[in-house]
Amino acid sequence: MPAELVGASYRCSTCGQELAEAASLLPASDSRVVPCSGISAHSCEVAGKRTLLFSTCQSFVINPFPRRFELVLVEKIIARAATEIGPEAMLENSWFEGHAHRVLVCTQCEEHIGWSYKSRHGDMMYGLALSVSKFWAWLCLCALVAFALYQVAAGGHVLVAAATLLIALLKLSPHLLL
Ligand SMILES: [Zn+2]
Repeated sequence: MPAELVGASYRCSTCGQELAEAASLLPASDSRVVPCSGISAHSCEVAGKRTLLFSTCQSFVINPFPRRFELVLVEKIIARAATEIGPEAMLENSWFEGHAHRVLVCTQCEEHIGWSYKSRHGDMMYGLALSVSKFWAWLCLCALVAFALYQVAAGGHVLVAAATLLIALLKLSPHLLL
């Protein structure tokens, strides 16, 4: 869980750094927020404020092991609590109409905590990821282990099966651990 609500603030769940105040949550009725297709929104109440909880899943085109995210939008991040990394802001594959996105990480532990969204007019909003599901990566891990066991059971060499599994695990590990 990249970010979590603790009291009246969202904090990095890895290092505990305060990322945003719950008071910064965008109201459910905010006209700037127009979700694209592929992301769903549910009205909820957080710290006495009516806001939207978004849930979405990456496409297989972007990630061979798509992740499912739940996120909320805030209008500001606490100064120096997070920084943008990776490619320049782009509109392509954004989850919000007219907003170019970048990856956002915690400045203290460099954990991925969400995304920044910049409108054509330069206005910013930030998506804080509250949960991440790595279902497809774990499913692939189960399939790899099952295949290795099958190789051994079918009379294959244990060392060859183990080496093949190890190489596959090294390839898969960034999708499971990062
Ligand atoms: Zn952190």
